[in-house]
Amino acid sequence: MKQTPDLEKVQERMKPGVISSYGFLGTDDRKLIDILDEDDKKVTALGLTHQKIADRLQYFYEKAKHATGSWVTVDEHFAVYVDDVRGYMPCPFGDPGLYPKNYVIVENKKINERLIFSYLSIHLIREHGFYQGRGSPFRIDPEAAKRILEM
Ligand SMILES: [Zn+2]
Repeated sequence: MKQTPDLEKVQERMKPGVISSYGFLGTDDRKLIDILDEDDKKVTALGLTHQKIADRLQYFYEKAKHATGSWVTVDEHFAVYVDDVRGYMPCPFGDPGLYPKNYVIVENKKINERLIFSYLSIHLIREHGFYQGRGSPFRIDPEAAKRILEM
């Protein structure tokens, strides 16, 4: 697929050291348009939507945000940890506003698997269908999200 100049600018902002030290693309050297397209198809094939995945991430975040820095049990077999806010950062797609720089861990104790995401990830998925590039520390694989978050 052909990438628009606007998306090209977004991809530049996603490189390490521009908005965040890790960046958003990991080791993925594909065009942003192709990353978005592949994940969009994956999510549809799983019978999910970006909205549903974002809502589920938000659900766990809301359950644990009052207790930053400690583990909170949610629905008996999930453990959720919300890190303290360490500053703020903008959305790389250029939306106004700033998002807290922190991370969230959701552990599913039934299957002993964890999902790690940043607070900004919820917005990136909901508004942009962006799950980050392969190799990014905060990439959310849609299939892993479905399995670990039981969707
Ligand atoms: Zn945005």
